[in-house]
Amino acid sequence: MGTAVEFWLDLNEEQSDLRDWVHGFAEQVIRPAAAEWDEREETPWPVLQEAAKIGLYGFEFLINTWSDNSGLSLPIANEELFWGDGGIGMAISGTSLAVAAIYGSGTPEQLVEWVPQCFGDADEPKVAAFCSTEPEAGSDVAAMRSRAVYHEATDEWVLSGQKAYATNGGIANVHVVTASVDPSLGSRGQAAFVVPPGTKGLVGTKKLKKLGLRASHTADVFLDDVRLPGSCLLGGKEALDERLDRARNAAPKNKNAAMRTFELSRPAVGAQAIGIARGAYEYALEYAKNRVAFGRPIIENQAIAFALADMKMEIDAARLLVWRAAWMGRNEKPFTAGEGSMSKLKAGEVAVAVTEKAVQILGGAGYLREHPVERMFRDAKIYTIFEGTSEIQRLVISRAISGMQIR
Ligand SMILES: Cc1cc2nc3c(=O)[nH]c(=O)nc-3n(C[C@H](O)[C@H](O)[C@H](O)COP(=O)(O)OP(=O)(O)OC[C@H]3O[C@@H](n4cnc5c(N)ncnc54)[C@H](O)[C@@H]3O)c2cc1C
Repeated sequence: MGTAVEFWLDLNEEQSDLRDWVHGFAEQVIRPAAAEWDEREETPWPVLQEAAKIGLYGFEFLINTWSDNSGLSLPIANEELFWGDGGIGMAISGTSLAVAAIYGSGTPEQLVEWVPQCFGDADEPKVAAFCSTEPEAGSDVAAMRSRAVYHEATDEWVLSGQKAYATNGGIANVHVVTASVDPSLGSRGQAAFVVPPGTKGLVGTKKLKKLGLRASHTADVFLDDVRLPGSCLLGGKEALDERLDRARNAAPKNKNAAMRTFELSRPAVGAQAIGIARGAYEYALEYAKNRVAFGRPIIENQAIAFALADMKMEIDAARLLVWRAAWMGRNEKPFTAGEGSMSKLKAGEVAVAVTEKAVQILGGAGYLREHPVERMFRDAKIYTIFEGTSEIQRLVISRAISGMQIR
């Protein structure tokens, strides 16, 4: 009857070591610094430096997590990092968006040239930014207005336009910027470019003031006749021309390639949301055991105990969806029901609900900055908005399960 089917959910030794190592850093370095950097609303460079020193911030770390055949290493690391703090977690992971774009679309030469410049080194860490969203093109990626025009005589690209809400925008050493090469092809006519350090014409606005993730820098970025050598086009001109030709000559059946890229990155983002949710749940659980009202710990009331039971169950359910999608992505299983979207949708909504419940369980104390659940509640909300809003995830799932053009 063929080979025995094996299935287990235990982490292997490498994975549990990774979890414990990242957790240690989150507990000892990130959590104690979280309130300060949230208040300051600044990039926590000293924390980044610490992370770089121990090898938690850098390409090698990312490659190690990406190369795990189960797909679980990155979600495991992200959950622990964001358990420490959402804002600092994002300050540490924001660079990986740009690195993933270079890794995914760049040539090996581009990878070698640019990735080290994204991270800098332990003495002088740097960050990178991935700039895709625009004022008129968020969920509607195809509406992108930034243009990239090629000048054959000089082998140069000239980029112009405006990017919005870029994590690390303007303070990054390396920016990866998307722009439309052929607007008639919609999202299939877009390409990604590396903008090297110090390039003229790329200007970031001052840091945007946010509800949460305040230690992470977010800014708009202007592209004013940014001139780039041909070598800055990720993947190279030949590959772009082939792709554009295919898009011009083929029916628009395969948005699927781009969709798959998004589906692949979503579980890692979902894991960040789970980390924030778990931090809030654990804090509320301890508080409920110690806080006395009406002569007994508040957890002895079912209203509180059942809320905590639900919080734990929802976090575990979300994690299973995240792990499934991460495993599917790594093992090239087709996302026939939008499983990547499911994982991020569930995790984001669980993070919002769980952190809100945690504030409620702490009562008045939950509303104060003295307790971390107030910050976690603010930090969680972004997870129903960026990397595809909850509505967009539902569109992906409903289209996948129905095969219909749901709007
Ligand atoms: C802190 C932060 C960091 C970010 N970092 C980055 C980054 O590093 N790089 C980057 O490129 N972008 C980044 N973004 C941008 C983010 O990805 C976008 O904000 C997000 O994709 C939503 O786009 P939008 O803001 O234009 O909203 P809109 O697209 O204007 O959506 C507004 C509302 O309409 C809903 N909606 C839109 N279309 C539909 C539809 N067809 N059906 C149902 N509902 C719909 C949406 O779900 C949403 O509720 C960041 C944003 C923030 C706030």
